[in-house]
Amino acid sequence: MPRKLDPQTQKHLAAYVDYYRDMGVYDFYQRPITEGSLADSSSTPMPAAGETADVVFVTREESLFDSPLPVVQDQAAALKLIREDIGDCTRCRLHKGRKNIVFGVGNVNAEIMFVGEGPGADEDEQGEPFVGRAGQLLNNMIAAMGLKRSDVYIANVVKCRPPQNRTPEKDECDTCSLFLMRQIEVLRPKVIVALGAVAAKNLLAVNESMANLRGHWYDFKNSRLLVTYHPAYLLRDPRQKKEAWKDLQMVMKYLAIGRRTGVQS
Ligand code: URA
Repeated sequence: MPRKLDPQTQKHLAAYVDYYRDMGVYDFYQRPITEGSLADSSSTPMPAAGETADVVFVTREESLFDSPLPVVQDQAAALKLIREDIGDCTRCRLHKGRKNIVFGVGNVNAEIMFVGEGPGADEDEQGEPFVGRAGQLLNNMIAAMGLKRSDVYIANVVKCRPPQNRTPEKDECDTCSLFLMRQIEVLRPKVIVALGAVAAKNLLAVNESMANLRGHWYDFKNSRLLVTYHPAYLLRDPRQKKEAWKDLQMVMKYLAIGRRTGVQS
């Protein structure tokens, strides 16, 4: 017969489940309950120390709950955990054609995170986002801001290359973006730059045109989000580069990057 939990333990458990749901974790399993294992549950932060590899847990100051909730402090370890959760993923059909899962790359303390659509052939080959022609242009855009690629973090909505570089389908994006949301939750960048309509529509859960999406700041989790053109689109229509530059200048102004790097925003 299932054991009934006391109201205090139920409350703690509900808080932890909510917390992990916010982090994009939906699957839970139960360890067998042994005599006494619940006795001190109100004083033991979950998960218990030592059960979560390298992840460090600290008290979340703004907690709504009266017990400390775990907040991941070591971003690199937390990202490693997300990568481990992805594993050798077969959750959607994109796994069939991939060589490498393209998780993300960059500075785990980055102020800016760029989010693209999904890996192309070069990225699939090398296991790193934006390393092909579009990646070269993205590097140039980052350099124009007075930054280095290693200053920012770069990831995609889907982590496996769609066949013939087609646009990822909704169910593929829905499945994979859970991991992107967890990356964002860990990195907590000040600014997320959505590169192109697929990234923008998936992050913002809207179906607007690029014309409507660009030019505004959006609040997104703990970050602000701006939409600009995808570098691959800019390669096809270089006249739009000046528009993309206006978007990047909005980011520079917001983060006062020009003052630090000497580049005019
Ligand atoms: N286009 C993307 O959206 N992402 C990449 O990583 C490369 C090209």
